[in-house]
Formats: sequence, structure tokens, C-alpha cells
Amino acid sequence: MGIDILEEKFQHYRQLHPENMGRLRELALETSAVQLRVRELMDAITPTLCNACIASCCKCMPVDGWFTESDYFLFRMLHEAPFDLRSTHADGRSCTFLGDTGCVLPGAMRSFPCVKVNCKMVAEALEANGRLAEFTALYDQMGRLQEQIWPLLAGFLSPTIMQAQQL
Ligand code: SF4
Ligand code: SF4
Repeated sequence: MGIDILEEKFQHYRQLHPENMGRLRELALETSAVQLRVRELMDAITPTLCNACIASCCKCMPVDGWFTESDYFLFRMLHEAPFDLRSTHADGRSCTFLGDTGCVLPGAMRSFPCVKVNCKMVAEALEANGRLAEFTALYDQMGRLQEQIWPLLAGFLSPTIMQAQQL
């Protein structure tokens, strides 16, 4: 979903549910701490892997960062709306947050689909360097965080997003 629409939804939600903002911020901070650890795992393998990749996942669809409502609301608890970080790509199929040297979003606060869903090569590299179990534990932790976030956003989550977030 595009971030212009998500920003409208976020502003609406903030007006309707001020009582939830404190909890959402706590969950955003927890999410960020987990993602920081995932980033550290990935930084050890992705520069080599992704530079050599012939089917880059960030170049497969012209999305605004795979954000869903819950990803975006969490992002907004810690960061300003990332409108100015977007760029258009001539290939017509790259993510708008893909910059010259990779993703321009904060490394510790990206959408769950971007952080949780990885290719086979990443899984193999994690296994080879002995850190797959660590990633799996963080993956499970992210799943538990999502389960705490979704009820707070009841009525604001798209049904299809609920399915996608089971990934
Ligand atoms: S994460 Fe996997 S699919 Fe994506 S660019 Fe890196 S190697 Fe390619
Ligand atoms: S990692 Fe960054 S550039 Fe890649 S799809 Fe996600 S938001 Fe876009």
C-alpha cells in the first residue's frame, strides 16, 4: 500500500485512538531493537550476496517499501513520514525506497515483510555462518510483536494485509 494513503490512515487513527499511542510507541521501540539485531546479522552477509544477485528482491515491484498499516504506524511512532526518501526508478519495478547503495529507510525500522521474508541464499548464508538459529529466534520475536500490534489496529487493517502479515 502506498505511504500517502497510509499516512492519511495514520492521522485518522491518531485522532480516533490517542489512548493507544503510548503502547504503540513501546511496541515500536521493541520492534526497532529486534530489527537492529536482525540488521547486524544481515550486514554480515548481504553486502556480498546482494551485490552479486541477479534478481534483487528490492527491484521486483514498484512498492513503497512493502509497508502495511501496522508497519507504517510503528514507523511513524519513531520517525517522520518518509515522503522525501522516495525516489522514482527508470526500470518501473524497483521499490521507491531503494537508493544508490541500498535501502534508504532506517536499518532498524523497516516493514516486517522486508525484514522477515528472506531468500534462500540468505537462509543458506546464515546457516553457513552459524547464525540461522539466532535469526529464527528474532523472526519468532517479530511474530509475537505483530500479534500484539494487530489488536490495537482493529478496524484499520486491510483483510488482505492480515493474510500477508502471516508471512
Ligand atoms: S536478499 Fe536475496 S533476493 Fe534479495 S537482493 Fe539479496 S540475495 Fe538477492
Ligand atoms: S528493504 Fe528497503 S528498498 Fe528493499 S523493498 Fe524493503 S523498503 Fe524497499
